[in-house]
Amino acid sequence: MSILPNIVDVALEHNLTVKTGTIGKKEVLCKCPFCLEDSNKPNKYYLSLNENKNVFKCWYCKKYGGVLKLLSFLTDQKESDIIESLRKQNGFSYKKHPAEKLSRNQLRMIGFPNINWVNNREFDVDLYKAFREHVYKEWLAFVDYQRLEAYQTIYTGILTNDYKGAIAKVEKLELELGVNLLADVLKEISNDKRTERASEREEFVHSILNKEHPFYTLQSSII
Ligand SMILES: [Zn+2]
Repeated sequence: MSILPNIVDVALEHNLTVKTGTIGKKEVLCKCPFCLEDSNKPNKYYLSLNENKNVFKCWYCKKYGGVLKLLSFLTDQKESDIIESLRKQNGFSYKKHPAEKLSRNQLRMIGFPNINWVNNREFDVDLYKAFREHVYKEWLAFVDYQRLEAYQTIYTGILTNDYKGAIAKVEKLELELGVNLLADVLKEISNDKRTERASEREEFVHSILNKEHPFYTLQSSII
């Protein structure tokens, strides 16, 4: 269910001059508040409203957009503020999707520096929802990869007797990303059982340092 108002209602409430006889038609015509080019031409109505799509377009100045853009112009408010007050009016506390909680910086790190959720939502709701899911999956995959990098950093720190330095590196990474990694990494590293990808990273470290964790030599000496 949309919480957005009907575009024709918005036009009428804000006293746009609507052409008699067009209300209820597919295209509702009215005087364009953006360019005012039709204001002195009695029979001209350049702004067309499409009630089904809840959009407007001026045939003269080419301004177009959704109901929020029109409302924003007519009331001199930001679209994001209008959305917020509509939500409150509707007693509708909007629960943000985790993707929408990502910071500008976090979005930038996964290659989406310019997302405008409000505009996306207004443009096409289904597309917006799919895109939101996509962005969030990208973020989770990114964090997952960074956790593995942190794992490798800590493991290298242990083998090179620079555990403190490794912890500091991971803490710095945590700050940059705005997520916690260390607790998970330490838990995994102190576990006897390794995931396959953790083992791969360990082997990679062994090959670079040309040495193994005592854990491995211990195991082989028992066998
Ligand atoms: Zn116009």
